[in-house]
Amino acid sequence: MSKPSEWLRPEVAALSAYNVADARGLIKLDAMENPHAFPAHLREQWQQKLAGLQVNRYPDAAGEGVKAALRQAMEIPSGAQIMLGNGSDELLQVLMLALAKPGASLVTPEPGFAMFRLISQVAGLRYVGVPLAQGFALDVNAMLATIRKEQPALVIIAQPNNPTGNAFDTDALREIVAASPGLVVIDEAYYPFAASHCLGWLEAFDNLLVMRTLSKLGLAGLRLGFLVGPARWLAALEPVRLPYNINSLTQASAEFALNHYADFQAQAREICAQRSVLASALGALKPLEVYPSEANFLLVRVPHGQANVLHAGLREQGILVKNMQGSHPQVADCLRFTVGTADENAQLIEALKVCLRA
Ligand SMILES: *Cc1c(COP(=O)(O)O)cnc(C)c1O
Repeated sequence: MSKPSEWLRPEVAALSAYNVADARGLIKLDAMENPHAFPAHLREQWQQKLAGLQVNRYPDAAGEGVKAALRQAMEIPSGAQIMLGNGSDELLQVLMLALAKPGASLVTPEPGFAMFRLISQVAGLRYVGVPLAQGFALDVNAMLATIRKEQPALVIIAQPNNPTGNAFDTDALREIVAASPGLVVIDEAYYPFAASHCLGWLEAFDNLLVMRTLSKLGLAGLRLGFLVGPARWLAALEPVRLPYNINSLTQASAEFALNHYADFQAQAREICAQRSVLASALGALKPLEVYPSEANFLLVRVPHGQANVLHAGLREQGILVKNMQGSHPQVADCLRFTVGTADENAQLIEALKVCLRA
């Protein structure tokens, strides 16, 4: 029998696949999805639009309709260009495949988004993580020293950060962008829930791309992410993007949703309001420490050694959350709760009370 590991690139043979937990029958607070359904008053119109699609034809290769709708909905600087991805995960793959010259590196703060490391390993781009400082702040000196030493092809920073939830100091972020010799990507996956964003910086830096996704806004099932930035960089990356990477149903749905952007922004505002309610309720459960968040989730530190037990206890009560234990030393004893509906959050609090009393 043929043995895959004999033929695979050794760095691929050494990897385990990204694990997606089975959520059937559970309240899903593990993956930063928007808990609200597609706005009810828009459904019929949306579905009529889909019914008219010619799926025997390839989709619009450039996604012009979606790009125009993005420009209309968001404050994208007029001089900046857009590249669409099948989720921002695919754009990370495009970036890293393109930049993985022999010896080239990715510098990124950690704990950070798990896909940064996984995709860099698949692409063959050397991963260099720089630990965050106290309070999950950027360690500016360590970042600058690492950038000086590595001369990285790519620096990626998620703003706000996942899994910690905080937004980094913008002066610190700006200093890092300015000091980077290669490309910098600011991953604004959580921009709908954050107090500020960096799109305006594109006018000041020619080595910066801002990455966003519609996933956390309520359209995770569509898989649509995008990069915004200088034409020079996006044109250089274009050969790595597969033709027709955004399917017709996604293009039509995203364009429609973006033309009703205010409805999705309203859902995001509701999630931010529920984030405050949930943070207070968690904070009132004495042994828990809740960290500040500008995202649609809350990172919580539980008593030492209890993350696995609490994670399992919540699951037994029908609630799926993310266990950060074992992923990085700085988030040991931590669970990550996606903000759900008011009712889901109340159920989470009740289930936690049961676990903590036991
Ligand atoms: C969720 C997430 C993404 C992935 O977004 P998709 O568009 O769904 O692929 C990217 N970056 C960060 C930091 C995330 O948390």
